[in-house]
Amino acid sequence: MSIVDATTGPRQAESVLRPGAMLGVLGGGQLGAMFAVAARRMGYRVTVISDVDGVPAARHADRFEVVNYNDLERLAAVAAKIDAVTFEFENVPADAGRAMAAVTRVHPSPDVLAITQDRGREKAFLTEHAFRTTPHRLVESRESLQQAVADLGLPGVLKTASFGYDGRGQMRLAADADLAAAWNTLAADRCVYEAWVDFAMEVSVVVARGLKGDVAAFAASLNAHSRHILDVASCPAPLTPAVAAEAKEMACCIAEKLGLVGVACIEFFVTRDDQLLVNEIAPRPHNSGHLTIEAAATSQFEQQVRAVCGLPLGSTACVSEAAMANLLGDLWSEGEPDWAAALAVPGVRLHLYGKGAARPGRKMGHLTACRPTVADAVAAVIEARRRAAPAVATEGRVY
Ligand code: AMP
Repeated sequence: MSIVDATTGPRQAESVLRPGAMLGVLGGGQLGAMFAVAARRMGYRVTVISDVDGVPAARHADRFEVVNYNDLERLAAVAAKIDAVTFEFENVPADAGRAMAAVTRVHPSPDVLAITQDRGREKAFLTEHAFRTTPHRLVESRESLQQAVADLGLPGVLKTASFGYDGRGQMRLAADADLAAAWNTLAADRCVYEAWVDFAMEVSVVVARGLKGDVAAFAASLNAHSRHILDVASCPAPLTPAVAAEAKEMACCIAEKLGLVGVACIEFFVTRDDQLLVNEIAPRPHNSGHLTIEAAATSQFEQQVRAVCGLPLGSTACVSEAAMANLLGDLWSEGEPDWAAALAVPGVRLHLYGKGAARPGRKMGHLTACRPTVADAVAAVIEARRRAAPAVATEGRVY
């Protein structure tokens, strides 16, 4: 399966969009906000399209459209005033992307979205192209779950095929007795069962592919999660040179086979014998790539602008060792964190997304530190986060 990016609209002949053009981003969260900042810095105008009001990206937009993602007529009307549409949120109906692709350029194509928003299709794509992934089975009934567990054994993890993120829509199965409860709790008619991987670490590679098929990958980052949410990312990941090169190579090949135009993040498990297994593909910039803003020659957001506009991709060279720590809403539980104390830690930069309510688990911002070593950078972001809210326990566990 090789997919050609949809450039079916009337403006398809125009491959390079010059500054001044109107770029659209579907989704209004922090990824859309940072895309808008990068695009406007380069002289582009930005329309943010979201199905809810009051989103972070709206603060950085020239135009803000609140549209129900099922209202295809409205989406097409909004897209008709945009020169190229991209995504910061991939869980939109594929028809929404197709409705916009009928009137303007949409990158990545709705076909790429259709693959990556369904774990079953994503695993089939990876298997078809011989990219190593976790041992898995598609599960569409309680009986097929039993068969999957018989084939792959326990423990394992049952994941809904669609609309899962940050560990939502998945359950770990340790014993036969868990099967029925997990199937009933997830209440999805399409799931994927995966064997549990006793990995050494989780890493990810952000890759970009341009309109002409040029590809560029950033160095892999090491990702440490807490409660299934990314906690600390650090770069470069502690991989052998051969595995580091293989991770970038695999990411570039996946982008090519998808026919991606834009940015994607490939998440990997690294097994204890140094094998890379693809866990997930996100067809957009990624939380683990936020540190590219300070630590790479080009940020993942500028790279997205360049890719969708048909400009040459920027250098992905690492300009500093770096680490990023997420700031979840939990940090606000004792009141507004002390940002002055956090910023007193040398090399630390603050990003706040301007979200209203600081709910537990909600991504409110992040801290990035550039330091001479990765260990220093990790220590700096963890210390800065601790100083911001000394009474609140945060994870900060790194391998
Ligand atoms: P996902 O939503 O698929 O990225 O899963 C969220 C997190 O759950 C991953 O980052 C891993 O830490 C963990 N996880 C998911 N699948 C597996 C697996 N097959 N084996 C071990 N850990 C897993």
